[in-house]
Amino acid sequence: MEIATLMTRNERCRGCTSAALTRILSLGVQPPANAFVRPEDLGKPELAFPLDVYFCNDCSLAQLRDIVSPELLFTQYVYVSSTSPAFVAHFRAFADAIVSRFGLGPSSLVVDIGSNDGILLKPFQEKGIRVLGVDPAVKIAAEATAAGIETLPYFFTPDVARDIADRHGRSSVITATNVFAHVNNLDALVEGVRILLASEGVFIIEVPYLADFLEQNLFDTVYHEHLSYFSVASASVLLERLGMKVINVEKTDSHGGSLRICAAPRESAHPVGDAVGRFVADERARGLEDMTVYEKFAKRVEENKIQLTALLRGLRTDGKTIAGYGASAKGNTLLNYFGIGPETLDYIADDSAWKQGLLTPGTHIPVVAAQRIAEQTPDYILILAWNFADPIMKKLEWFSRAGGRFILPVPVPRIVRQLHAQEDSATRLPLRTNQ
Ligand SMILES: [Zn+2]
Repeated sequence: MEIATLMTRNERCRGCTSAALTRILSLGVQPPANAFVRPEDLGKPELAFPLDVYFCNDCSLAQLRDIVSPELLFTQYVYVSSTSPAFVAHFRAFADAIVSRFGLGPSSLVVDIGSNDGILLKPFQEKGIRVLGVDPAVKIAAEATAAGIETLPYFFTPDVARDIADRHGRSSVITATNVFAHVNNLDALVEGVRILLASEGVFIIEVPYLADFLEQNLFDTVYHEHLSYFSVASASVLLERLGMKVINVEKTDSHGGSLRICAAPRESAHPVGDAVGRFVADERARGLEDMTVYEKFAKRVEENKIQLTALLRGLRTDGKTIAGYGASAKGNTLLNYFGIGPETLDYIADDSAWKQGLLTPGTHIPVVAAQRIAEQTPDYILILAWNFADPIMKKLEWFSRAGGRFILPVPVPRIVRQLHAQEDSATRLPLRTNQ
């Protein structure tokens, strides 16, 4: 791949096409958060790209403008969703809710965009509903197909949508969970949805919620894959421009706070639920259309950086040892932006076998299996995958009983002794470690 094709820059807002974009947060130049380095490649140049968040003054969509090639980011993707039982339960409940709400039956077709290993489609299939996955990660798509969930190894485009409609008929439900915020050309994606969706069909999106992102200081959920940071207001502007209407909105626990947005073709009979207007009014009251909220957010991120780096430096100066847990994408954003490397963290434990033996992108901290904590027990464990803080601390109960301490980095850095010492960290639903 030519370097020039590895990154493009948007001149206009992805949501409303305005050119009035203001930078609200700069996390520097970083390698892609999942571009782990093989030890033998250390010393070779690493690709790195600007990681800056912009605010649209017209539709208030927070977004990245510097777009790293999706071929580079996604086609070699190795994350498999169903490894987490919490996800399986989350998507099962999601499927149950959709089936009963929209009265799906054996003639219905559910298409999932970014279907990964089929974690969402499987519970639909078990209810006798026809399902089809679309996911550009070739290996995962092949494995899902082999396991009985037919999955097309493509990006979802209008051509792919036409092909599916020709072969399988129109779709009652199209889902895009944790993928809508990752796609740059949403015009093409929604055009494809309009082609494939039945006239009374519904399009259901799950995206991390901008309000939580700002208020819980989730700056580490910024990485090159995560292009849009939606509110209900900004998602509505985009969908309406593309011929859809938002008919319902719900809050879910994923990602430290996500939105489940249900949309339908503009000309469909679906009524617009009261929740939509309530969310938009609430967002306005919280100042999500106002630049000062973003300026305060950027300031809090800076304070977080100062506090966490001072805390870690102080511990190292006192001769304490520190390891990380969870070589997640969010962890890599934090480590790169805060400049935390192997001089501070001896290693990062991670349960994903494919990451073990590699080095974190940019910061080059060794990623090891979790058993290392028993063999080379640190004084402190920095939980980088804070979304998994609950199960991680539970698993490492022996560590805290032996006097070890955990450090949680967001929303403000704090030292935690044991599970449930901090209600806010313990009550969150576990999320994908790639986030
Ligand atoms: Zn806009």
